[in-house]
Order: sequence, then C-alpha cells, then structure tokens
Amino acid sequence: MKYDVIIIGGGVVGCAIARELSRYQLDILLIEKEMDVGLGTSSRNSGVLHSGIHYKPGTIRAETDVKGNAMMAGLCKDLKVKYEYLGKLTVAQNADEVKTLHHLKEQGEANGVPGLEIIDSDKMQKLQPGVTGIKALHSPSTGIISPYGLTIALAENAMTNGVEFSLGTEVTGIQKGQIGFTLTVAPRKTIQTRFIINAAGLFSAKVADMAGAGGYRIYPCRGEYYILDKRLKGALSILVYPVPGHGSSGLGIHLTNTVDGNILIGPSNEYIDEFQDLATTAEVMRKLKKEGFELLPQLSQSDFIRTFSGLRPKQNPPEIGGFKDFVIESRKDVKGFINLVGIESPGLTAAPAIALKVKDLLAELTSLNEKPDFTGERSGFTGHFCELPKEQRADMIARDPDYGEIICRCEQITKKEILDAIHNPLGARILVGIKNRSRAMMGRCQGGFCMPRIVRILEREFGYSPEDYLLKSAESPLFSGWMRG
Ligand SMILES: Cc1cc2nc3c(=O)[nH]c(=O)nc-3n(C[C@H](O)[C@H](O)[C@H](O)COP(=O)(O)OP(=O)(O)OC[C@H]3O[C@@H](n4cnc5c(N)ncnc54)[C@H](O)[C@@H]3O)c2cc1C
Repeated sequence: MKYDVIIIGGGVVGCAIARELSRYQLDILLIEKEMDVGLGTSSRNSGVLHSGIHYKPGTIRAETDVKGNAMMAGLCKDLKVKYEYLGKLTVAQNADEVKTLHHLKEQGEANGVPGLEIIDSDKMQKLQPGVTGIKALHSPSTGIISPYGLTIALAENAMTNGVEFSLGTEVTGIQKGQIGFTLTVAPRKTIQTRFIINAAGLFSAKVADMAGAGGYRIYPCRGEYYILDKRLKGALSILVYPVPGHGSSGLGIHLTNTVDGNILIGPSNEYIDEFQDLATTAEVMRKLKKEGFELLPQLSQSDFIRTFSGLRPKQNPPEIGGFKDFVIESRKDVKGFINLVGIESPGLTAAPAIALKVKDLLAELTSLNEKPDFTGERSGFTGHFCELPKEQRADMIARDPDYGEIICRCEQITKKEILDAIHNPLGARILVGIKNRSRAMMGRCQGGFCMPRIVRILEREFGYSPEDYLLKSAESPLFSGWMRG
C-alpha cells in the first residue's frame, strides 16, 4: 500500500488534520484540486474565532468550536499566525432580542464559553463608542485570525513533518478493495491508501458518494462581503453583531476587523444553485454599503476597495434553513473511510479540535505511534516586515538587501517577502498564492503597482513564459502571449 492515509481537501480542516496526524508514524498524502491550499471556503469567510454561544449544547459544532477557540492561542504562537481575542458585542434593539441574549448566554455557559456577561448601554458605549442598542451580550473569547494564514501555516508545518501534498489534483473516483482504497485522480492516475479522510468541504457529499458512503446533500449558501480601506483601522475596538433572527442560516450582517487592519462588511445569506458561483451582486453590495454607512459614520465612498464572497456548505435546504450539526464519522459500512460533511461556520475556529476528533477515529482503526522528531513550531520569519521596529528592519536590511526593496507600495511588502512566498515549503506559483502569503496585491491599488514587479520576479526565478502566469488556476491566465518579439 503506497499511503496509510489520504486526506482529500486542503482547506483549513484538511490541513489541520494533516498537521495533527503528522505527529505519528504514518505515510500521509493530502490531495487538493486547486493549485494551492486554502483557496476554497477557508479563505472566503469573516476570519472570526467564534466563542460558542450560537450552537446547541451537546452538538459537535458546540464542542469543537469552544475547544478550537481555546486551542487557537497556543497553536498560533507555535505556527506564527496572527490572531487577537478582541471580544464581541451581540447587541439587542428591543425586549424580544434581550430575551434571545439571555438564551445565548445560558447556551454559551452550557457549552463552557468563559466570561459571558449581559451589559447595559453605558458599558457598551465604553467598549465601542457609538454603538446603539438597549443591551448586549459581551463574549470576551471571540477573536479574529487570518484564515488563509492559518491554513498555509498548518500545511507548511504538516509538510515539514513529512506529509506529502499533491496540489492541482482532483480525486474523481474511489474504489474500495479488500484492504484499503484505490483513488482515481485526474488525469487517469491511481493511488492506493489504507484510509481516506474526506475533508472536501462543499464537495464532501460528492466525495462520500464516490466511496459508497453517501446519503448526504450539500446546498451552497453564499455570503458576500465588502473590504474597507485600512484608513479606518482602529474604528472598531470590538466586534459588533446584531441578534440573529430565529431560524436564520447566518449570524447577520456585521462589521469585522481583520488581523491586517481592514474592516469587512457582510456576509449576506443567499442559497444558490451553483457550487462555483462566487459572484458578488449589485443588489447585495448596495445593501452592504447602506448598512456600512449606518454602522460606521466616518465611512466614505472611497473606502470600499474590494468585494468577495464565500459559500457555506449547508446540509439543510433553503425551506428549512438554520444550522445542522457537523458530520464527523468513521463509516462502518465503508471501513477505513472517515467522513466530514457540512463543516460550515464555525469550521475555521473548530478546525484544530475537529483534527483531534479525526485522530481519535483513526486510532480506533489503526495504532498510532508518535514520531520522535515531530516539530510543532514553524521556523523562520513569517510576519510582515513593515510591522517590525525600525532598528530591527535596519538590521534585517543590512543582512539581506532584498528587505530594502519595496515591491507592494500599498502594503509595504518587500522583495524578500515575495521571494519567501514563492520559496516557502509549499512553493506558491500562482499569483493568489503569493498574495495570501505576503499580502502583496491586497492594498488599495489591488496589484496595479506590484503585480508587474512580481511577474518580473517569477520570470527571473523560474524563467516563466507569458502562458505560465496564472492568477488562480489554468482558467485564469494573466497573459495570452508576447505583443512584440
Ligand atoms: C461567508 C462565510 C463566513 C464564515 N465565517 C466564519 C467565521 O468567521 N469563523 C469560522 O470559524 N468559520 C466561518 N466560516 C466557516 C469556515 O470558513 C468553514 O467552516 C471552513 O473554511 C471549512 O473548511 P474546509 O476545509 O472544510 O472546507 P474548504 O476550505 O472548502 O476546503 C475543502 C477543499 O477540498 C477541495 N476539494 C473538493 N473536492 C475535491 C476533490 N474531488 N479532489 C481534491 N480536492 C477537492 C476544495 O478545492 C477545497 O480546497 C464561514 C464560512 C462562510 C462561507
């Protein structure tokens, strides 16, 4: 058998599982259909570390959310990922909503959420001046994190500990044998493994069907966002959410700080038919803008720099809505197949705890022996050079002049940081991969200044021809050929 374990899907969940299992003496392969990890739902969300007030006690969602939230500080320190426990206010506007706040507090306490308190409008004003409402539930353990930063860090650390990655490879078929499985991957190659872990997100029901472990259906539900300019950094000192409507499929439109200093407005909540439809729509954008102006009086038209959307893998159809519990199961009828279905919010927060659950399920199927040389910490400089103190920057430039050349003017990203992104263990070759690692192209001009410079760096490093430059996939080439010569 070539591999002990194949993980299908390189989102935050698949990468957290890969990193957790890399502690053990196992041959592991992670297969991801996109050309980098974390290009699916895992990079298209609010980046919030949820506290656990919203989920029914006794559910896997509640358990993994609260545990994942508590694990995040240690994990982020080891992996050098940006995070911050900012806290959150869920704000009630009327007596009915105050009742919901009390319910959320009791539910959160039953789930083990620390420090919950219902506060009056004076205390609310102290935490976030200008916020309007009659009462709020304060959850101090709510935080923010870089979702793609976490996914990339988990993948890199898993790779350092021996996990193999096959990017740009789609699993198209699964055959169950006497012992283990044979996977067909496009184009027409087969790979053998003893165990499969299905972490395919939106496509998890499809992958489960391939293995004969079906019975699930996913309904994509789109959330659209606006990203605001860093000019507004500091405008929000705590996250502010409305009280979610009864039976709603989301948590309501809110303002969210990102760890890099932008503010997000969103997400909307709309069931769609297409699994790949990441459009943003004029109608939702108009609504988000209107809400943004109401919530942030200092906002101006020029602060809206970009839109994006993400798709929730809902298990309930639109006519039912709401939330269904995560499926994390070891299939008795397809022995060796561990299935994760419907990992919608709070899957980002819950990912490290989900990985522990999957490890326990695998331990029931095979013995897990720890590796003596597992390294849980990520080495090297992975932060943003421009955020370092002046003396440290001068010292680093003296040792490596590539730190002295700015490539992205908006985000102040240096040539060395671009080189690090393309030479990192997973080796980003697509523009979005470089963007997610370095933050180049994420600023006001959205790559207008730095993209041509990054193209030149790729040309020098790898001798790229015009056809080799891809934004995200083979379907998004940057150039079609030379104009002259
Ligand atoms: C609008 C929105 C807001 C959210 N906000 C939050 C939040 O603030 N906090 C929070 O905790 N959670 C949030 N979530 C939820 C969170 O983003 C997800 O739960 C989490 O990202 C799921 O990760 P995943 O790895 O399961 O899925 P994905 O990131 O989708 O990864 C699955 C991967 O599998 C790959 N794949 C699929 N099929 C195949 C195949 N056949 N072969 C090979 N590869 C395959 C895909 O390409 C994909 O990369 C939000 C989600 C949305 C949509």
